[in-house]
Amino acid sequence: MTPLARLLIARIAATGPITLADYMAECLLHPAHGYYATREPFGAQGDFITAPEISQMFGEMLGLCLAQSWLDQGAPARVTLAELGPGRGTLMADMLRATRGVPGFHAALQVVLVEASPRLRAVQQDTLKGHAPTWLDDLGGLPDAPLFLVANEFFDALPIRQFTRAGQAWAETVVGVADGALTLGRSSPVPLGLLAHRLADTADGNIIEMCPAAGPIMQRIGQLIATHGGGALIVDYGGWNGTGDTFQALRHHGHTDPLAEPGLADLTAHVDFAALARAAASARATCLPQGAFLLNLGIAARADALAMRLQGMALQAHVAAFERLTAPAQMGQLFKVLAITPTQAPPLPGTA
Ligand code: SAH
Repeated sequence: MTPLARLLIARIAATGPITLADYMAECLLHPAHGYYATREPFGAQGDFITAPEISQMFGEMLGLCLAQSWLDQGAPARVTLAELGPGRGTLMADMLRATRGVPGFHAALQVVLVEASPRLRAVQQDTLKGHAPTWLDDLGGLPDAPLFLVANEFFDALPIRQFTRAGQAWAETVVGVADGALTLGRSSPVPLGLLAHRLADTADGNIIEMCPAAGPIMQRIGQLIATHGGGALIVDYGGWNGTGDTFQALRHHGHTDPLAEPGLADLTAHVDFAALARAAASARATCLPQGAFLLNLGIAARADALAMRLQGMALQAHVAAFERLTAPAQMGQLFKVLAITPTQAPPLPGTA
């Protein structure tokens, strides 16, 4: 049993079952035993590989997309370039490298990273030295300035609550204890005004998920962009008003039981892009698959140019990375891009 399992069992025995959101928050962010606080999740040695770790082309495309939007909006003199959950800092580093040649862009930027893990902050500091980034715990401290923002695989890591429809009411999935071990259970159904809009598209007995932290974050992004200008690219796996249980644990590139090793496995859920778009409604929100977005931006031409300099195993790996990012059967369709812009500004390149 992991140390965190012992702590959680004692807590639940004392005060009763906890929501999935509480369970996820403890497993991911507990200061001593949490997954992001203690593990190096990324890359071949870790538990999963994210798009920026697959190929530099991902960050290049996103960086140039936002830099073009900055130009389209009149190249404002002071803007924030923010990232939510930057991991190793690879995406931001690739974005900055790709946009070095855009006159005036870097001089206008203040790079801001929103990161909960002190250990990952140190990794990001190392990757991004030279760009004088600053760190925030949440979006509250973002300056009143045009905001250009990226978030890749950030929202899937935010704690979710899960409900099963029972008539006009909802039973919540909870984590309890049985025979000395963590176990999933369901609360008695109660009507919930918060989920009234899901009665129309959820059959009796079906499961829906909601992410309480996502709404306020998207509202803040939408407001800053609507008021001051800018653009955001939110990339993650998920769908639009989805139903079903997507709560999952990943360890060593495979699925595992989310209750088996709290703190040692990554816990995630699919992202509901409809809820994100609704919360950012003061700005314009457009959602499309990652593959279509990257191809619209010209990733195939960039892949060709890089391929000219490669051969053998390196060339094979490069071609495989291109396929992985764009092919519908790989990340191209399951991963979505939500683009946020002011209603009066041109849409972000690649999204229209
Ligand atoms: N964007 C990176 C990393 C994705 S993993 C990539 O694509 O490789 C999720 C990241 O979000 C990690 O950096 C994790 O520490 C951070 N994170 C998770 N929950 C967070 C929270 N509540 N607040 C701030 N950062 C968080």
